[in-house]
Amino acid sequence: MSDTNKKAFITGITGQDGAYLAQLLLSKGYEVYGMVRRSSTAEVVDVRLKWLNIVDKIHLVDGDLTDLSSLIRIMQDVQPDEVYNLAAQSFVKTSWQQPILTGQVTGMGATHILEAIRLVKPDSRYYQASTSEMFGLIQESYQKESTPFYPRSPYAAAKLYAHWMTINYRESFDMYACSGILFNHESPLRGLEFVTRKVTDAAVRIKLGLQTELRLGNIDAKRDWGHAKDYVRAMWLMLQQDKPDDFVIATGRTTTVRDMCHIAFEHLGLNAQDYIVIDPQFFRPAEVEVLLGDPAKAKAALGWEAKISLEAMICEMVDADMQRLQ
Ligand code: NDP
Ligand code: GDP
Repeated sequence: MSDTNKKAFITGITGQDGAYLAQLLLSKGYEVYGMVRRSSTAEVVDVRLKWLNIVDKIHLVDGDLTDLSSLIRIMQDVQPDEVYNLAAQSFVKTSWQQPILTGQVTGMGATHILEAIRLVKPDSRYYQASTSEMFGLIQESYQKESTPFYPRSPYAAAKLYAHWMTINYRESFDMYACSGILFNHESPLRGLEFVTRKVTDAAVRIKLGLQTELRLGNIDAKRDWGHAKDYVRAMWLMLQQDKPDDFVIATGRTTTVRDMCHIAFEHLGLNAQDYIVIDPQFFRPAEVEVLLGDPAKAKAALGWEAKISLEAMICEMVDADMQRLQ
């Protein structure tokens, strides 16, 4: 089947990755369906899709990952060739405040959608949005597919359950189900609560005189940061192979939060050191100190590699925040 005839169903389409993935699939000729949960402020729900100017090209359908009946109904109505499960309570810090909800959405939600696929259209191809947070307290200096997991938050534990359920459905029911273990990826569409976007937004506010300082937690933490646009391409590639498999998606370079701040502030001619205030409210009950991925398998099997550098991405984010705030 050519991509032109394919239907994709994306959960989490209103999030960062959902928006970029929808844009990619539309450019390949897919018919794209995205699940949206009910909100009392409908006008902010599709803000990312509007930013990318694609909202009118997508079929938005009502549903919720915690509501199996809505997923079964969508699967029956849409009959998708590919299902991308990107919906989650995705913010690590919130997962300590809402551990049960995080388990229900981020963990059990994946089983709901796997069940809906198995019951309605078991030949749909399935992508599960797994995360480098599953490596947590890292057991190897470069984390790859075979590295043992050590989750350090309710979010990571919920994602690990969803990861193993994906593998279990593949092995039990012969479903084409893949788990993409993606390291942190950012963009101008990243949520403001995540550290990169918090920093780029604050740098611009400081430059414009709207803010005087930037309060952060552990700035010695290191992350392997890539660009969401590169990473959604990997999701799609995983569903185009002869056999389903799991892949680490990363850049292979790690940087401290401190150095990432310097990139953002320097782009505006400022020195980050002059504005950062360490605030214990942003420390976490258990920290993931360092993440560094080895994407060799993805390069060999999918021909995938990250194209956009951390510097280019942070500057793009700063410029986008400047455009928004000016
Ligand atoms: P976002 O937080 O930007 O988006 C999360 C999406 O999930 C939103 O569309 C949100 O909808 C939706 N959602 C939340 N709860 C429910 C629910 N109960 N039912 C239906 N939809 C729901 O995440 P990202 O786009 O950054 O990430 C996409 C996926 O990849 C997530 O699963 C995340 O955990 C995972 N991931 C992300 C990484 C990253 O660095 N970005 C790294 C590795 C994995 P609403 O808009 O209504 O809130
Ligand atoms: P995560 O890797 O999914 O938790 O992504 P985040 O962007 O939320 O956090 C990345 C790292 O930045 C973590 O180690 C955080 O502890 C660290 N960090 C330091 N200060 C902050 C802050 O103010 N906000 C956030 N979100 N993270 C911070």
